[in-house]
Amino acid sequence: MSSLLVDNIGELVTNAAGEDPLGIRRDAAVLVEEGRVAWVGPSRYAPAADRRVDAGGAAVLPGFVDSHAHLVFAGDRAAEFAARMAGEPYTGGGIRTTVGATRAATDAELRATVRRLHGEALRQGTTTIEIKSGYGLTVADEARSLRIAAETSTETTFLGAHVVPAEYADRPDDYVGLVCGPMLAAAAPHAKWIDVFCERGAFDVDHARAILACGQAAGLGVRLHANQLGPGPGVQLGVELGAASVDHCTHLSDADVAALADTAQRDGSGTRTVATLLPGAEFSTRSPYPDARRLLDAGVTVALATDCNPGSSYTSSMPFCVALAVREMRMTPAEAVWAATAGGARALRRDDIGVLTPGARADLVVLDAPSYLHLAYRPGVPLIRQVIRNGVTP
Ligand SMILES: [Zn+2]
Repeated sequence: MSSLLVDNIGELVTNAAGEDPLGIRRDAAVLVEEGRVAWVGPSRYAPAADRRVDAGGAAVLPGFVDSHAHLVFAGDRAAEFAARMAGEPYTGGGIRTTVGATRAATDAELRATVRRLHGEALRQGTTTIEIKSGYGLTVADEARSLRIAAETSTETTFLGAHVVPAEYADRPDDYVGLVCGPMLAAAAPHAKWIDVFCERGAFDVDHARAILACGQAAGLGVRLHANQLGPGPGVQLGVELGAASVDHCTHLSDADVAALADTAQRDGSGTRTVATLLPGAEFSTRSPYPDARRLLDAGVTVALATDCNPGSSYTSSMPFCVALAVREMRMTPAEAVWAATAGGARALRRDDIGVLTPGARADLVVLDAPSYLHLAYRPGVPLIRQVIRNGVTP
């Protein structure tokens, strides 16, 4: 049995439950055995191990959990970004551009993009990443997108209901039938979750409910894109269906916030719905940010994720999202780091990641900084010195 000791940690973020929300320990060490955290304690009492990583007094935190990313696609939309920065509004219509490029791509091209972006994310401290389909929108292209995604992550999400593809523009009911029928059947073996873009111009609440219910019946967990571009019924639908997460949450009513807070209060039943905020999307579309303070103050569980995709948020960087959350959404640095680690884990209904306590997966990030505070304090600076995933350095 090979063991690894990370010691001389100046500040260890464990996210263990306690008085301090981040479960911080000073002058700490973490012993890893068989890819799991075996022991956490004061560095001076650390047991011996086969290998040692000397953190040199730096901060160590759980690897980031990016619970919302669209990595299976071809092409990019840099020109659309430039047009938007020159004043054109974001409507979501550009998704169809990426659908065309994705359908035309080979498996090898799609696989290379997933691997490149996954590598980027890993170097920036992300040790778990959820990957959605949603740029194929045919039975074969959705199935292969998920097959390729599953080579990289166990957290795969079927998003056949991303937009209605052009060939079904006049008959959206038929497309919903395709998604719930042959497309779901082909996608489900490679997917853990089902997701719908519930928004004006994408899928209305009746279509979204039908699709998510079919996914649930096929054994998939529910998550959805909701209330991004305007107010709407998406968040309430997510709560109604027991979704693990409703994502974006930019335009919420008081009733939406109350419904989410209610799920957090009765979490014993395992039906908490997390609000996942994706500030990279507001940054990249120059849109108003979600009101994170309103959610946090109401007791809603908040996660942060990148929404990495070629149209509205082409970043794979969780440290960047942490910095945006603090500067633009008035989250405290501690709230943002918790949301990017333990919050993401909650959004994926996982308790083995996002924490550094005995039994958890040994996913650690060593910072080039003495404190987690530097993630927001030093935006844009590569502060990830070392990543340990499943107990090994990738
Ligand atoms: Zn998204």
